[in-house]
Amino acid sequence: MDVYGLIGRPVEHSVSPPMQEAGFAAAGIDARYVTFEPASAADAVAAARELGIAGLNVTVPFKEAVVAAVEPTARAERVGAVNTVDFGTDPPVGDNTDVAGVRRAFAHHDARVAGSEAVVVGAGGAGRAATAALGESADTVHVANRTVERAERLVAELADEVDATLSAGGLETLADRVPTADLLVNATTVGMEENATPVPAELLHADLTVLDAVYTPIETRLLRDAAAAGATTVDGAWMLLYQGVEAFERWTGRDAPVDAMNEALRDAL
Ligand code: NAP
Repeated sequence: MDVYGLIGRPVEHSVSPPMQEAGFAAAGIDARYVTFEPASAADAVAAARELGIAGLNVTVPFKEAVVAAVEPTARAERVGAVNTVDFGTDPPVGDNTDVAGVRRAFAHHDARVAGSEAVVVGAGGAGRAATAALGESADTVHVANRTVERAERLVAELADEVDATLSAGGLETLADRVPTADLLVNATTVGMEENATPVPAELLHADLTVLDAVYTPIETRLLRDAAAAGATTVDGAWMLLYQGVEAFERWTGRDAPVDAMNEALRDAL
């Protein structure tokens, strides 16, 4: 039996165990997926390797610290964070599947990223992953953040790493950018509280596809406002699903049973 796990703090409410175990069961793979709250990320990676653990997911607050404990992929290096470790190689490889989570969530909803005008609200971990994902093929990506300097730093660090033209500003720049945008990602924590939204409803329109990274609740006020404006909506569970799908595929070398994982994830949420 293979053992996979998640390290972070807290991890007790994580929905990754039911999602990944549903994937293993549907694929006929004899494996378990368990959660750990270690004191140190580097020690946890070393211990997991020593114990023969096959793969780890990594969540807050360890995503950045794990980069130094593994061989990061180009996209993990670009984002400066690792959320998936594969112990099948020596040294273990650290990937950032949140980047693929954003790309594949849009693809699942037939939203074209190539050549698009994209807006990312938020410049934390999810904002970096979204900017790296959309920057691969969008024409422009504008990052709007409450703390402008953080958006400017993100854009300066990623500008040479992606093909898209990047720009940064405060939340007030949404008024200029959202009305002409094709894609919008909420990568802030705003929306976790009932009825809060980071984007004024009047800026939303029917030609927009809106991905909200927030997945508790699944239906945020932003997504309700977007649907009312005729926009295509992509909830945060799609991003969560596809980061898990990408981790599953890296670990097992097989196509993930996406439907089984999606069903288990939505049941758990
Ligand atoms: P983070 O690194 O802590 O960043 C938080 C972001 O939210 C920052 O840009 C912050 O702006 C902004 N923010 C916080 N409170 C705000 C407010 N009152 N008004 C405006 N902006 C505010 O968090 P993260 O890891 O990027 O996560 C962000 C969200 O994405 C969370 O809800 C998380 O659960 C979700 N997420 C989802 C997935 C998925 O797979 N669906 C994956 C990763 C994260 P400042 O810089 O100004 O503080």
